[in-house]
Amino acid sequence: MQTNLADFIRDTPEGREADGILRKCTHCGMCIATCPTYQLLSDELDGPRGRIYLIKQVLEGATPTAKTQLHLDRCLTCRACETTCPTGVRYGRLVDIGRHLVDERVARGPIESAWRQALNAVIPNPALFAPLLKLGQFARPLLPAALRSKVPAAPAAAKPWPVAIHARKMLVLEGCAQPSLSPATNAAAARVLDRLGISLIRAPKAGCCGAVSFHLSEQQEALGYMRRNIDAWWPHIEHGAEGIVITASGCGVTVKEYGHYLGQDLAYAEKARRISELAKDISEVIAGESAKLKPLVTRHSSPVTNQRVAFHAPCSLQHGLKLQGKVETLLAEFGYSLTDVPEAHLCCGSAGTYSILQPELSQRLRDNKITALTGGMPSAILTANIGCQAHLQGATALPVRHWIEALDDSLSYRD
Ligand code: SF4
Ligand code: SF4
Repeated sequence: MQTNLADFIRDTPEGREADGILRKCTHCGMCIATCPTYQLLSDELDGPRGRIYLIKQVLEGATPTAKTQLHLDRCLTCRACETTCPTGVRYGRLVDIGRHLVDERVARGPIESAWRQALNAVIPNPALFAPLLKLGQFARPLLPAALRSKVPAAPAAAKPWPVAIHARKMLVLEGCAQPSLSPATNAAAARVLDRLGISLIRAPKAGCCGAVSFHLSEQQEALGYMRRNIDAWWPHIEHGAEGIVITASGCGVTVKEYGHYLGQDLAYAEKARRISELAKDISEVIAGESAKLKPLVTRHSSPVTNQRVAFHAPCSLQHGLKLQGKVETLLAEFGYSLTDVPEAHLCCGSAGTYSILQPELSQRLRDNKITALTGGMPSAILTANIGCQAHLQGATALPVRHWIEALDDSLSYRD
C-alpha cells in the first residue's frame, strides 16, 4: 500500500511505525474472512481492511468523524486478522495508533466520556474495584436477570499459597481485577510451580499491567502503570527471579510489549526490554517443565482429569501471544479429553472493556461462543484469561475456570 503521511505525524515514532505497517498491506482482503465484527455486520468498514483505510486517511491528514470513531470502537482488537494476514500486517499496533489519533480529534458525548473515565478509574484500581464488586455480589440476588449476568458470583476461595522455599524463583503479575474475580488462579499457579521446585513470588507494589488504560486511549496513564510495575519487579530480578509469570493472557500481551511501549523512555527503555524478555504466559512455563509434572498427575483417580472439557482459547493467547494450541496440547498430555470447539479462532466478545462499551455485539459473540463451546457436551470450560472467564461464566451454568486451577486440582488430589 502506498502512503503519504501528513506533516503532523510523518516524522514521529508513531508515524514511522504506522507507515511501515501500512506499506505491508496489499489490500488482499484475506483478513476479512476471520474478522468477528465483519461476520456480524457485513460492512467493509467493520472489517480490518476497511479500518486500515480509515486509519490511513487520518494519518494522511483527513479529518476523522464520529463515524470513523465508531468503526474503530467496534473493533475488538482480537487480532484474528493478524493471524490470517499473509504479509504480517501488525494491525493491533496500527489500531492503537489510529484510535489515539481519532480520540484526540473527535470528542465523545458527556455520558460516554464519563463512562469511559469511570472504567479507567475503577478497573485498574483494586482499592475501588474490589469493594464495588463485593457490593454488586451482595446485591446480585435482587438484580434483574440481565444485570445479574454482568456481576460475577462470589469466586471460589484460593487454596493456600506455598511458602517460598525454593532457590528457583519467578515473579507473578497479580494484575488489577483478577485477584477479586478469581483469587484461586494465581494461587493455583504458585502451587503447581511449587511442585516443580519454583517459588512464585508477589511484588506488593506492582498492579495493573496498563492494558485497560492503554485501550481506553489513556496512554500516558498506562505508561505510568508500566513504569510502576518495572520499579516493583526490578529488585527481584536483580536478586535472580528468572521470569515474570502471567496467568491472564490479555495482560501477558501487554507486558511482552513493555519494551516497545517504553522504547523511547531513556530511563526505562532497557529495563522494559528486559521485563518483556522475562514475561511468560503460565503455559510457556509449564510446557518447559511438563516432563517433570506428568508423573505427578493422578489421571485415573482424580475427579478432575479425564473429564471432557472444552478449552476456550482467548484471542490474546492465540492471536496476541501466538501460542495457538499450546494449552490444548498440555491438557491432552495431562489426561484431559478435549471436545471440538468450532470456529475457535473467533473472539468471545469480552475484549477488555468491550463487553461494557459495545454490549450488543459482545453478547452476540458470547452467545455464538457458548454454543460452540458447549456443543461437545463438556463438563467444564477451561480458559486462560480472566476477562473471557468472567464474561463466559455470565452465560452458562457450566463451571468456567482457568486451566491451571484444574491442573492444580489434579496434582493436589494426591496431597
Ligand atoms: S482485531 Fe479483530 S475485530 Fe478488529 S479488525 Fe481485526 S479481526 Fe476484526
Ligand atoms: S490480509 Fe493483510 S495484506 Fe491482506 S488486506 Fe488484510 S491486512 Fe492487508
